[in-house]
Amino acid sequence: MKRVACDRNVCLYCGTCVGGCPFEAMTLFSTWIEVDHDVCTRCGVCVKLCPVGALTLGEAGP
Ligand code: SF4
Ligand code: SF4
Repeated sequence: MKRVACDRNVCLYCGTCVGGCPFEAMTLFSTWIEVDHDVCTRCGVCVKLCPVGALTLGEAGP
């Protein structure tokens, strides 16, 4: 199953993705973005919103 992942080396923790998620699946903390994968619909909106390309929607690991 695909999952949203955030690259911590790239993320600015600006909150744009968190505020833009139509399903309120994201939470912003000081040093990480948490995605509730039970709520996330994999719509991809957050991936497009991120100004620095920190988010990816890809296959989760095993
Ligand atoms: S893929 Fe869609 S539902 Fe999931 S966190 Fe991103 S904006 Fe929210
Ligand atoms: S929009 Fe991008 S840079 Fe901003 S908090 Fe989200 S993942 Fe990080």
